[in-house]
Amino acid sequence: MSFFREEFSARSAPVRVRFGAGVRRQVAEELDLLGARRALILTTPQQAALADEFAGYCGDHAVGRFIGATMHTPVDVSEEATALALALKADCILAVGGGSTTGLGKAIALRTDLPQIAVPTTYAGSEATGILGQTEGGVKTTLTSPKVQPEVILYDAELVASLPVGMTVTSALNAMAHAAEGLYARDRSPLSSLMAVEGLRAFRDSLPRVIAAPTDPAARGETLYGAWLCGTVLGQVGMALHHKLCHTLGGSFDLPHAETHAIVLPHAIAFNAAAVPDLLAPVADLFGGGPGLGLWQFAKESGAPMALRDLGLKEADLDRAADLATANPYWNPRPVTRDGIRRLLQAAWAGEEPAI
Ligand code: NAD
Repeated sequence: MSFFREEFSARSAPVRVRFGAGVRRQVAEELDLLGARRALILTTPQQAALADEFAGYCGDHAVGRFIGATMHTPVDVSEEATALALALKADCILAVGGGSTTGLGKAIALRTDLPQIAVPTTYAGSEATGILGQTEGGVKTTLTSPKVQPEVILYDAELVASLPVGMTVTSALNAMAHAAEGLYARDRSPLSSLMAVEGLRAFRDSLPRVIAAPTDPAARGETLYGAWLCGTVLGQVGMALHHKLCHTLGGSFDLPHAETHAIVLPHAIAFNAAAVPDLLAPVADLFGGGPGLGLWQFAKESGAPMALRDLGLKEADLDRAADLATANPYWNPRPVTRDGIRRLLQAAWAGEEPAI
């Protein structure tokens, strides 16, 4: 299959990526290359030990740590961390963690224009995008700006080895969703499609190996490679139904991010496969069956949660979810109708197999 298009435009962010087990120990070299002397290290409270570890690698190139990164990037936390960065005269942000920590680093960069080094410990992919989601007064808004794109990414397989298997699986499916939706994006380029297919392939081959041996460095490395590719696709092209639905479910019903992506993905892809089977054929080729069914079977075999009801969503909420998800029109390869989305949500709620 060819990803050639007669017309396209493509953009790649100027990002330096270093990949390898143990590469985090070279973070001081990266600070030198940026000309930075005063890094502020960010983590979540749960990953505070990593802040200490990185302070050791940075030596006198670090001026402090903020270990308060939290879900949904609340604006008050970002303002507190920004005030600390300014008070310490930080000249670089070093964000070590999952999408929440990366999000905090981006929020500081938005307010200060400081350069960022992102060291991901999940597969969410935020480090590879210029997208920032922030929450204020219970409302999550998203912006895109080159200011928030991290300048350097260190992908170290040893850091994802601690990710529990359950989170590994949901985080991987979260990443795969970026690639699957990227395949039918209106603004896709041959490059984004090549990355999407290779990212999906990397997860298909390495996730079962990680589940069998969670600390296997080669298998973890390949999943992280998949995360980089899938995250880069997210940073380059627009998303559609799947991401909009997950945003609605997460924001309005407080459902957990990665688990929601994991459950909705096969259903959203099956819905769109009815309209663009050719564009989703690579997914069917990789996973067998139809594109949605193949992903559903892969998720099931990986032990992913399969039903929104298991995340606490009530059946009585499905009507409101369908209303909310169709309130603001957006582009999708298949027209988004209220009835169609209600049916999709019912199947995802019950954990049913998608039709194709
Ligand atoms: P997360 O960053 O919220 O982490 C979840 C929990 O896992 C945290 O308690 C964290 O401390 C812990 N954790 C992280 N890595 C670990 C590891 N290796 N071992 C053990 N525990 C670990 O989860 P996430 O799924 O990575 O990120 C979700 C957030 O990222 C959401 O807010 C989402 O909107 C955002 N996101 C943004 C983009 C973007 O481009 N802007 C892309 C993807 C996700």
